[in-house]
Amino acid sequence: MRLLSIVVPCYNEQETVSLFYEETSKVCESLDMDYEIIFVNDGSKDKTMEELKKLYEAHKDHVKIIDFSRNFGKESGLLAGLEYAKGDFVTVMDADLQDPPSFIPKMLEMIEKEDIDIVGTRRVTREGEPKIRSFFAREFYKLINKFSEVEIVDGARDFRMMTRQVIDSILELKEYHRFSKGIFAWVGYKTVYLEYQNVERVAGETSWSFWNLFAYAIEGIVAFTVAPLRLATLMGIFISVLTFLGMIFIFFRALIFKDPVAGWPSMVIIIMFLGGIQLLALGIIGEYLSKTYMETKSRPSYIVKKYYD
Ligand code: UDP
Ligand code: MG
Repeated sequence: MRLLSIVVPCYNEQETVSLFYEETSKVCESLDMDYEIIFVNDGSKDKTMEELKKLYEAHKDHVKIIDFSRNFGKESGLLAGLEYAKGDFVTVMDADLQDPPSFIPKMLEMIEKEDIDIVGTRRVTREGEPKIRSFFAREFYKLINKFSEVEIVDGARDFRMMTRQVIDSILELKEYHRFSKGIFAWVGYKTVYLEYQNVERVAGETSWSFWNLFAYAIEGIVAFTVAPLRLATLMGIFISVLTFLGMIFIFFRALIFKDPVAGWPSMVIIIMFLGGIQLLALGIIGEYLSKTYMETKSRPSYIVKKYYD
């Protein structure tokens, strides 16, 4: 019998995991397929692990738990889940029921009948989200898509179903800084998106603050394009040319008008302007350097304390 794996990263989800299991298993029972739900406990500080163990005891044949030694972040949770998944088809879902399990049968059908490799989901509204967050999110997608070689779809969620072949391709990307939205797009394959309205989480709170998201956005840009590095070069060329012309101008002006000292304030402004640009360029280089540094350590993305098979 074919197997469907559902990967669920969980961080402080004590209120949601049993609700999630209830809803999702109901849908899965109706499928003509075996299923496993792989919960990744990402170092939760609340009673998530206790709740997961209860589920595991009650439904050993469907529930697996990967228990991390600490919080490694959602990207690591996703990776672990994909590595442990044995399914012919693999779905990635959030624990908070923001990803409607009712989509699963439809996704499976599309993959099986229509020769599609990946069925993703896309939010068409960002209702219930702070305005400023939506604004930055939209600008982020515009920016990254301008420079990245693959399209990172605006509003695409991590909720998606993939075939075994796609999962194997994803697992070939060994990078430490994983930006899944980019990785999913990078591997290619035939992808379609189901659209849906934003759903609020059933319980608990989002663990993403604005600054978390901002850092995540920078991470995504650094991981998927080197365009900012080129920006420094372009600015350098532009300013050098401008300065060269300025030099010629000033030289001849001094020759003709004999007007050597003037414009102290403008000098200070120019020096500060250049200083600012230099620091910006250094900062950009630093971002890439720090990522390279972390990659060369080739540390594992996560450590499993215990796997409940
Ligand atoms: N999550 C995780 N590790 C973290 C943060 C979040 O595994 O460090 C999980 C979380 O439990 C949830 C999913 O990632 O299942 C999405 O998180 P959340 O709902 O907080 O994000 P949002 O839906 O607001 O983007
Ligand atoms: Mg959520």
